[in-house]
Amino acid sequence: MRSVQQLLAISILFITACSPASDTIRETRFMMGTLVEFTIYGAGEEQALSAVTAAGSEMQRIENLFTIYGDGSNPVKAFNQSTPGTMQTLPTEVTTLLGTALEVEKLSGHAFSPSLGALNRLWGFSQTQAPTLPPPEKEITLLSGASFACLQYSPEEDFSRNNSRCELDFGAIAKGYAIERGMETLQSHGINHAIINAGGDIKVIGTHGDRPWQIGIRHPRNSGEVLTTIEAAGEISIVTSGDYERYYNYQGRRYHHILDPHSGVPAVKSRSATVIASNATLADAWSTALFVMGREGLPLIREMGMNAILVDGNGDIHYSKNSESRLQPSRSAPMLRTSEIKTDP
Ligand code: AMP
Ligand code: MG
Repeated sequence: MRSVQQLLAISILFITACSPASDTIRETRFMMGTLVEFTIYGAGEEQALSAVTAAGSEMQRIENLFTIYGDGSNPVKAFNQSTPGTMQTLPTEVTTLLGTALEVEKLSGHAFSPSLGALNRLWGFSQTQAPTLPPPEKEITLLSGASFACLQYSPEEDFSRNNSRCELDFGAIAKGYAIERGMETLQSHGINHAIINAGGDIKVIGTHGDRPWQIGIRHPRNSGEVLTTIEAAGEISIVTSGDYERYYNYQGRRYHHILDPHSGVPAVKSRSATVIASNATLADAWSTALFVMGREGLPLIREMGMNAILVDGNGDIHYSKNSESRLQPSRSAPMLRTSEIKTDP
């Protein structure tokens, strides 16, 4: 587990504001297993504080609703323990996010899967006690592919699982959804210029005064170094999945928390995958999917109107820009500029 000090140091690296502006307010909250940093510009202290408090509790509510860890009960945990073949009614908020996740699963050819909870539990990366060695191969084989098409749903949108190894896991999408809802809450409190940074999963709105926000993307190997800096103005989400977040080395190999549902083992095609889109839920789901797909996933990301920065398994950097992207600054449209590295065709 990372210490709060380490997390704070990381988050400071991620957001290097243009200059220390006196009208910039920073607040942190610990949730979703990480330090969440709120940066607010152009609002009074009292207004900013009550907005952050409301956003923080909304994000905590989402964590409580979707987590499959910890002692509390929730509908997702109940679903994961339900008798296979029996239809379960889930809250609309859960079925809506599940619908998005299943769409990403389909489009990504199962690189992303919201029903690999059992496989994730087997690897143990989400437990408080960090694992140090891989699970037995026999158990991995039993679970690889077990998540494919293992959910059934009725016209009423009730869901059932068709075998006991089919368990929901929203770990790759719920943080993005929480950021999305957190930002909506800030906006409903009159905040127009802000960043929410949940351990490198970021959403921004507005600007930092007369300049864009500066967002640093972490280098996946050189800790403390920035791969590139993105200038963001308007509504932009920048979400990264990396093999440096939760990992251990065993017999000369790196084992990390992003699993390839096909093989049942940690994905090997990428070191980090950053997806840039307006919606944080989609950016989160697709950064995980792209991480698993590697380079071959870049055309799909582009087709869907999103941008990406991928560090592949060899350490080569690919910068993929969708042609529809609005790169010119304007008063209302989102503006995005990065120090270009290498553009994939
Ligand atoms: P992220 O850090 O957003 O890439 O999400 C990683 C988390 O999502 C893991 O800790 C697991 O809970 C879950 N997960 C791991 N691999 C996958 C995958 N291929 N598809 C969907 N969820 C995954
Ligand atoms: Mg993700």
